[in-house]
Amino acid sequence: MSRTASPTAHPAERILLGPGPSPVPQRVLRALGAPTLGHLDPQYLAIMDETCAMLREVFQTKNALTFPVSGTGMAGMECCATNLVEPSDEVLVCVNGVFGLRMKDVIERCGATVHTVEAPWGDVFSNEQIADALEKHPKVKLVGIVHAETSTGAHQPLEGLAEIVHARGALLLVDAVTSLGGHELRVDDWGIDAIYSGTQKCLSCPPGLSPVSFGDRALAKMDARKTKPQSWYLDVSMLRKYYTGGGGGGRVYHHTAPINMTYALREALTIVLEEGLEARIARHAAMHQRLRTGLAELGLGYIPTRSLHSLNCIRIPDGANDAAVRTRLLTDYGIEIGGGLGVMAGKAWRIGLMGHGASVRNVDLVLAALRACLR
Ligand SMILES: *Cc1c(COP(=O)(O)O)cnc(C)c1O
Repeated sequence: MSRTASPTAHPAERILLGPGPSPVPQRVLRALGAPTLGHLDPQYLAIMDETCAMLREVFQTKNALTFPVSGTGMAGMECCATNLVEPSDEVLVCVNGVFGLRMKDVIERCGATVHTVEAPWGDVFSNEQIADALEKHPKVKLVGIVHAETSTGAHQPLEGLAEIVHARGALLLVDAVTSLGGHELRVDDWGIDAIYSGTQKCLSCPPGLSPVSFGDRALAKMDARKTKPQSWYLDVSMLRKYYTGGGGGGRVYHHTAPINMTYALREALTIVLEEGLEARIARHAAMHQRLRTGLAELGLGYIPTRSLHSLNCIRIPDGANDAAVRTRLLTDYGIEIGGGLGVMAGKAWRIGLMGHGASVRNVDLVLAALRACLR
């Protein structure tokens, strides 16, 4: 008796050039298959410590409280919000795309009053706009902003913002899910108080962990809480006892860390640091430029005024069939790109050049495939 393989038995090897996940190097996949240790095994704790130390390098921070939250990027967002926001707080969230909207939703669920400052999708905020909003809402204790708005491809500058926020007695929270490991990001130099990211974008690791980092001001706000965070799973006062041994009591079991994902993240970070952060950021810039030049030759233009390197959001040309083109890219070329999200649905294609995916080979391939599909 013969058995035909189920079409789902062996996942295809796609070329992942969408908004995430990004292509994962074999080295990282192999790391996943190492023997599972116990979460309190000294060897595992040493691996976790190495991972956190490498995360500090990539975030460019000395923050002791830097660790991977169990869960994808959204878990990092929830972790920061849940721990930094108390029900009576007023918060300002900068909204210029889907992820700003999500941050508003998540923070509202913490019981806070959320004010927004808005910019058209595709645009970024000036520091003056945010300063004006803080002037209008003097009780704001936290300002949330997205560094890399993956829904629109907009690259938000962050230099000088923390000074404005701190002068008002507030903290700065940054979403760096699509920028960490692909764009310049200096947590300490830029005065960022709390930040979260994801493994499956520019770090080129499978989805499943969300690196976060908290500075002294953020720690002080958490320590001064009058109420417990509503999430037990994401409560940093307990998590830090496990991840850093900090907060008293040594290493204490909280939940079973995703052991094998930690191996994968450690390997992915090793690859980042072997390449060198600066060289990696320069590679993302060069690949973005190469794609932009090729797209211009095809008559394709960008939507955002200030584009990310890791995510290229382009206008779908008149007459092109959005779904048909993406289906053909996937079936004929094995290439995944993203469609538009939110108000951009049907209007935009999102081409991610993240981590391992940001290569000459992939750029030239997606350009050739697009040329064929648009003919
Ligand atoms: C991808 C992304 C997230 C969410 O990450 P998940 O891993 O999908 O949970 C959050 N913010 C931004 C800017 C993102 O690009």
